Amino acid sequence: MMTKKGYCDYSYNAQINVDADHQIIVGQHISQHANDVQEVEPALQALTEAIDDAVVGMWSMDNGYFSGPNLHAVDEHGIDSYIATDREEKPATDDLEDSDRKFVKADFTYEIESDVFICPAGEQMVTDPASKAKRKSYRANKDVCKKCPYRFRCSGSKKSAGRVIRTDKFEVARQAMTKKMETTEAKSIYERRKVIAEPPFGQIKNSGFRGFNLRGKEKVEAEFSLVCTAHNFKKFVKAVSTGSVRLEDLEKVKKAA
Ligand code: SF4
Repeated sequence: MMTKKGYCDYSYNAQINVDADHQIIVGQHISQHANDVQEVEPALQALTEAIDDAVVGMWSMDNGYFSGPNLHAVDEHGIDSYIATDREEKPATDDLEDSDRKFVKADFTYEIESDVFICPAGEQMVTDPASKAKRKSYRANKDVCKKCPYRFRCSGSKKSAGRVIRTDKFEVARQAMTKKMETTEAKSIYERRKVIAEPPFGQIKNSGFRGFNLRGKEKVEAEFSLVCTAHNFKKFVKAVSTGSVRLEDLEKVKKAA
């Protein structure tokens, strides 16, 4: 059962990993999380269960996967990943000084050694080191903020003195991925995702599968395995008939679905 925006429903979050060359589903799993912010570890586990010695060379994911735990997981496994930047983390397109736009989080620089953010006015924003909260809050000195010429662009509120930046312990990984995704190379690699990961879901729907017939995670996992197997057969037939996959490659992925 997943809950979202105040209501509950029997729902299942179907996750697939798709190979870049043939749109073959090389790993899949079912979760009951309402979003994708912690799906990288289970996806990797599904991949290693499906393929002996699985090596993920490159992995692109949409911005629903841009989260601390996911970024940490790809880093830990040494995967060259391309995760689209979350809307709240995206740098603004116009320059701070040449416009009167509101400040976005990317205008604040995180300094790992001192664990502070530096705001656009050059002030340090600190967090309470004694805080046990999972997400830490960083603020500049209130008295400085009250007199700051940027105040209204910064906080977005007439009442609030200054801005609060909230983040978790994975801020370095967030900033690194945001920076990476600004590069031309990353943009072009990510662009390919549209023709790799998204078509299989459309093709599965077009083949008549519109929702799970069974209830209960275990049964739904079995149903989804069958759906993925059927998808893979079609892809293999096509790939083998066009000569782009050799029959012996079948051995490597037969356990994926
Ligand atoms: S309002 Fe405070 S946090 Fe914002 S730019 Fe000014 S000094 Fe920095």
